[in-house]
Amino acid sequence: MQLILGLIPNNLQPKSPIHSLEDNPMHSVNQKIKDLPKLVLVALSIGLVAQLAHAQSDATQRLLERNKMFEPKIIKVADNVYTAIGYQVTANSMIVGKDGIIIVDPGQMPIMASRVRKAFEEITDKPVKAIIYTHSHGDHYNGAPAFYESDKGIQVWARSNFGSEGARNALTGLIGGVRSSNTQGFDLKPEQKIGVGVAIPPARRPTNSMMVDGSSQSGTPRRAQRIEPTHTFSEDRKRIEISGVTIDLVSAPGETADQLYVWLPNQKVVFAGDNFYQSWPNVYPLRGTARRSIRDWIVSIDKMAQEGPKHLVGGHTTPMLNNASEILANYHEALKHVYDKTIEGAKKYLTPDELVEYAALPPHLAKLDYLAPYYGSVKGTIRDIYAQDLGWFDGDALNLHRESPLKQSQRMADLVGGANVLMTKAKEAMRKDDPLGAAQLAQHVIRLRPEDKNAKRLMGEALAIVGESTFNAPMRNYTISTSNRLLSEANAK
Ligand SMILES: [Zn+2]
Repeated sequence: MQLILGLIPNNLQPKSPIHSLEDNPMHSVNQKIKDLPKLVLVALSIGLVAQLAHAQSDATQRLLERNKMFEPKIIKVADNVYTAIGYQVTANSMIVGKDGIIIVDPGQMPIMASRVRKAFEEITDKPVKAIIYTHSHGDHYNGAPAFYESDKGIQVWARSNFGSEGARNALTGLIGGVRSSNTQGFDLKPEQKIGVGVAIPPARRPTNSMMVDGSSQSGTPRRAQRIEPTHTFSEDRKRIEISGVTIDLVSAPGETADQLYVWLPNQKVVFAGDNFYQSWPNVYPLRGTARRSIRDWIVSIDKMAQEGPKHLVGGHTTPMLNNASEILANYHEALKHVYDKTIEGAKKYLTPDELVEYAALPPHLAKLDYLAPYYGSVKGTIRDIYAQDLGWFDGDALNLHRESPLKQSQRMADLVGGANVLMTKAKEAMRKDDPLGAAQLAQHVIRLRPEDKNAKRLMGEALAIVGESTFNAPMRNYTISTSNRLLSEANAK
């Protein structure tokens, strides 16, 4: 069966999540092919599988459904407040004052930001008076040149530590490149691309400056194009008055240390930057970055909730209108719950692998769509809290004496009777609708026989199924990227 799977082009491979033998398409294929001559068998299998090519997992369907949110549109948030969604990966907002406008987060690229400007100009032709950067991730501020003219006295506001994130992440830049690409899904085949859960990156391979959530160090435009802040503040809260609009800029470390939120006390609108989007927050980015303090994040969410906002504009995804205070209260409760339970469990000597169950969200929070792990992962957050507060050691004495992966695989092979048996068991797992088990077993074989193309093919095919049924978009992208790599190594001459 693995041979047959290997013959089928990737885009024809089954995409359905496998819940039971009965509803497993590959199982029925297996049954039908059992006693048929090989040629007929292959043809039949390809036909059956091709029919199933459009069956998608619940995870895929929900992510595709979510993508409808990112169709380009301008949303009126409140009187004189508008947010552009889907023009760029970020949400870009305009506040209309007496004789000018204020832009919150101009976005990722001047060329795309200029389309936002055009759309805003259909609402008002008042000139730009100020630009506010919520933080220094490139997808939020690189678009500034589309709104900025140097001789117009435009104020550009940010916190005084603006850019600190880039310096913190510089060390991880190298490894971040490949891992970023994998989590964002840049190298996936067109039919595998589904976005990152809080935005759809452009279809073609983008420059780094188009990455979602990050790229402050590598994605900045050429120096000459980059618009630096002209005004900064270091206090907790700075009240400014621009074009007759009262604006509070409030320090709010969370996703980045240089984050701020924008509060309009009269319109009761809060612009959260990346401390809020409709998803579980990306407390730990898979690409590997300097740590994001969930403790700061919890405080900053509470601070926004305490303002008593009516409308909430996140850094990505559509604005939440009319019930912002309730949403922020729930978001705060959820983050605090996960943090407190993780620490509580750690004090009981639970390991991270156990804590992901122990500190999971309770049902009344888990059911909220804006807390679902489209982008950030609850489990990843729990592991990261543990790592931030307790470090790498999980309390298991054996982990003080861990053997190399190769040695562990050798032990496994010795136990079952050799690498060939591991391979047989891996194929068996695949037949029994256990692609994760199959991938784990095949990985042992690959470690022991790095040139074994059958093992790579099997692991690649197994991970394709695992990835396609994974709901968290970055994890899904990473898993399918790994699958693609293995399959291409398996198919290399
Ligand atoms: Zn962002």
